[in-house]
Amino acid sequence: MSYDVIIIGSGPGGYVCAIKAAQLGMKVAVVEKRATFGGTCLNIGCIPSKALLHASEMFAHANHGMESLGVEIGKPKLNLEKMMAHKDATVKSNVDGVAFLFKKNKIDSFIGHGKVLGEGKISVTDNDGKETELEARNIVIATGSDVAGIPGVEVDIDEKVIVSSTGAIALIAPLVAAGLLPADYPVTINAVSGYTGGGKQLIAQMEDSSRDDAIGAAYFAYALTLAHKHVPEIMTHTGITRRPIFTPAVGRFAQGMLVNVPLHLDLLTGIPSIANVHAALSNHYDGGSIVEVTPLAVSASQPRLDPEEMTGSDRMKLYVCGMEGSGQVNLVASLDNLGKGASGAAVQNLDLMIRG
Ligand SMILES: Cc1cc2nc3c(=O)[nH]c(=O)nc-3n(C[C@H](O)[C@H](O)[C@H](O)COP(=O)(O)OP(=O)(O)OC[C@H]3O[C@@H](n4cnc5c(N)ncnc54)[C@H](O)[C@@H]3O)c2cc1C
Repeated sequence: MSYDVIIIGSGPGGYVCAIKAAQLGMKVAVVEKRATFGGTCLNIGCIPSKALLHASEMFAHANHGMESLGVEIGKPKLNLEKMMAHKDATVKSNVDGVAFLFKKNKIDSFIGHGKVLGEGKISVTDNDGKETELEARNIVIATGSDVAGIPGVEVDIDEKVIVSSTGAIALIAPLVAAGLLPADYPVTINAVSGYTGGGKQLIAQMEDSSRDDAIGAAYFAYALTLAHKHVPEIMTHTGITRRPIFTPAVGRFAQGMLVNVPLHLDLLTGIPSIANVHAALSNHYDGGSIVEVTPLAVSASQPRLDPEEMTGSDRMKLYVCGMEGSGQVNLVASLDNLGKGASGAAVQNLDLMIRG
């Protein structure tokens, strides 16, 4: 079969080119290895991500933005299955639209892997391995981009541990489904850590009483304006959208840390019980070697927690404390964030990302 122009790839680059060429009177064919047209943008990029963002924004608006306007609709419930079905329907109407335009403009389409064999020659190999040869006066390569690895490093993008943006949509969505914490929840984080985390100067101030700027206190609060350098990264890595209130403090001990996140259960999605919150954390860290979620009974039996509990360890313990019926839960992390240095912390972060 011979054409004026064959375009490999049917994304925004390829389909616009194909339609325009056909409208200019050329005999056109498109080769696409995906089952549907539209490329990354329509199938797994711009369109599905914006459909999900739009639906999420409507949910957030219904949850928090209406009452102050005098529109009372009660608490909305997230039906993730329907949200994903809406996303799929939006994608389908877009990719079907491109197929319709191809037909309308008499553009031939070939589903399969396109390969340029030589001047004016293309082969198309379909899923069954069947090869078709096509000829064209002109060939346009509009194959777009693919998920990139890291040069020099073998990266297995398995869409489970290491995810591309494609996997992230699929991965985040189920987390939202299990997600108890709305992104705009007004989070408060209280923390106390050992003084060596403050670096050389603070160590000297705490240990050398002869200094002019020596600190004699057994415990002190800081970042009192609520401006702390870690707030932006807390938001990035947790996904929360409302700036959390972070009130850190330092104690007269070298290493160790307790971080408290107290939550009102009635402000969480679905008003979970303390056991539900515990289950969500346990499921998330299941199988990991670094983070241990202590059993509810162990959390309940703690009269107090010692910030030095995990000193010298690279592991972290999470406690889920609270009184059934009180409507509140107190999440506490016990860890030694200090003393291992930046490279040690980086290695531990990598381990956490890979194994949890
Ligand atoms: C999550 C996400 C969100 C995005 N959001 C936006 C946004 O909001 N706005 C925006 O402007 N851009 C957005 N983009 C970027 C946008 O998707 C790309 O810029 C656009 O798709 C590029 O179009 P293209 O035609 O060059 O390539 P692609 O859309 O990648 O299309 C290339 C096509 O070629 C096919 N192909 C490749 N090799 C072969 C072969 N050998 N044989 C046959 N077919 C082949 C592929 O299957 C694919 O269908 C987003 C991207 C992602 C990943």
